[in-house]
Amino acid sequence: MISELDLVHLRRCVELAELALSVGDEPFGSVLVAADGTVLFEDHNHVASGDDTRHPEFEIARWAAEHLTPAARAAATVYTSGEHCPMCSAAHAWVGLGRIVYASSSAQLTAWREEMGLPPGPVRPLPIQQVAPGVAVDGPAPELSETIRALHRRLHGRRP
Ligand SMILES: [Zn+2]
Repeated sequence: MISELDLVHLRRCVELAELALSVGDEPFGSVLVAADGTVLFEDHNHVASGDDTRHPEFEIARWAAEHLTPAARAAATVYTSGEHCPMCSAAHAWVGLGRIVYASSSAQLTAWREEMGLPPGPVRPLPIQQVAPGVAVDGPAPELSETIRALHRRLHGRRP
């Protein structure tokens, strides 16, 4: 179930994804929100550096491990424009973070890539819960799908 408040944070993730694209990175953005609603940390994708592990959800997991108690991590929510990849799902679970809310799913991204004639990525696009079965997950948010699809089309030089 995605609430209006969830949508506020998801829209911020999409803004961060747009920002990433505008500076030459892939369009993914994520936000870490504490149990009391405070935004603790936000980041976007940084793979243009040449390091393809620089996903925002991975940065959030590392930040949370350094700055939050285990209880605060478990009570926090991670919002993200695109569903966690298996690497980030694993990092999320290893550091004991709480709920995940994503705007678009890995299945959607896979379909959009196929639509653009792109080959599959190097990592199988498993859903979060196949990697991290104990994590509560909500998504996708259909109202944001077309915006995110358009960002991926821009990334690959296609018209939105
Ligand atoms: Zn990832």
